[in-house]
Amino acid sequence: METVEDVRRVRLVGGNLALDFVNTRTGPPDGPPDDDVLTGYPELVAWGVYAGALTEAEAAALGPLSRADPDGARAAHTRALRSRDCLDEIFRALAADRSPSSSALTLLRDDEADALGHARLERASGYSWSWRDDNTLARPLRPVVHAAVQLLTTGALDRIKGCGGCRFLFTDESKNRSRRWCSMDDCGTAEKIRRYVTARRTRATR
Ligand SMILES: [Zn+2]
Repeated sequence: METVEDVRRVRLVGGNLALDFVNTRTGPPDGPPDDDVLTGYPELVAWGVYAGALTEAEAAALGPLSRADPDGARAAHTRALRSRDCLDEIFRALAADRSPSSSALTLLRDDEADALGHARLERASGYSWSWRDDNTLARPLRPVVHAAVQLLTTGALDRIKGCGGCRFLFTDESKNRSRRWCSMDDCGTAEKIRRYVTARRTRATR
């Protein structure tokens, strides 16, 4: 049984909130995912805090709200998973140099319209969207959806890549665009070990 602490098992290596949201499912680079940390609404909220999409205070306010409306919380969780499927499709397509489907882009448009409908323009250094006053159960998803649209509209799409060893997506911020792994501590190390073992085996059979 997954717990809310389990959301911290996934590394935040996407370099973008929307990609980190996609990376809440783990597994091999191709084929279906084999694990998912977003098992319920409390996990969605816990991940929001972990990933920086929600403050502790905002998460604390969502607790009683979701307990008072369990059906609404279930629906918000289901909707979040649907949005994640949509983001997964869009960014995995771009990482493979393909065009995402228009149905996925339409769903993202609808999510963004809903997010901005609950947002407020707030001044920091410049003005930016804030969901501080959004007291709906969809609150954890708002900044994720907006980050996805920002990445699509203003980001470097050719820097979006898939890890060579797992299904994680990330933005490659390296100068020579040479990043291949979600993290050197995970897939990068696994690859180094694999190469080392193969090299040794090759030497041994010579
Ligand atoms: Zn990886």
